[in-house]
Amino acid sequence: MPGNTGSMTLSQAMRSNPGHSPECVEAQEGNEAGRDKLKECKGSEKPHERKADTIATMISGEPASAYSGHASLSKRRQEHFVEGTAPEDRSEGIDLCGENHQFAESGKAGSNKMNGGHSEARLLADTMKGRTKNSPKLGLTFKIDWRNSSHPNGRPVPCPDCFRMMCHVQDNCNADIFVCNDEGEKVPLTKDDCQNEKNGEGGYNDFTDRIEGVGL
Ligand SMILES: [Zn+2]
Repeated sequence: MPGNTGSMTLSQAMRSNPGHSPECVEAQEGNEAGRDKLKECKGSEKPHERKADTIATMISGEPASAYSGHASLSKRRQEHFVEGTAPEDRSEGIDLCGENHQFAESGKAGSNKMNGGHSEARLLADTMKGRTKNSPKLGLTFKIDWRNSSHPNGRPVPCPDCFRMMCHVQDNCNADIFVCNDEGEKVPLTKDDCQNEKNGEGGYNDFTDRIEGVGL
């Protein structure tokens, strides 16, 4: 199994896996470029060592285009970085393919505004601008590096709130969504994942277990 050993970056390790997807490698390279940008921000109010620093890159469309999102970079214009919006400036809900989606952060009352500032949600919201249910099929491939105090080294999975937004987009916006694992393989988000989560049957855990290789 490829690993982040020695001086090898994760994107380089991914390439050594014969089953890797080029989109996953490209997205991981976007994350690594994002981390470098964060190092440049060292000394700012949000230095890159912060445990909550999460970054995600999404590859979309034909020809492929890449975007990266990160909360700490939201006030800085970065090429290919999707800017965030300050909480007080966020609208109630966000238009996704003609339907208003409420991005409700778990356990945070009154936070159901727009994309919640989350990297993956911001990328989705930006890409869905102007799309309708009848827009051509779009493939969206994410590589996520979600860091919080419980997982300072990061997890390659979306949070439950971004998962619900991914499901909304896949179900309503003619898109196929994939999340890359750390081996550089695309893991598809399935209709069952989304339906089971709605039914309280653990669809979110099924999806993240497949990404993290739990129970395989
Ligand atoms: Zn999230």
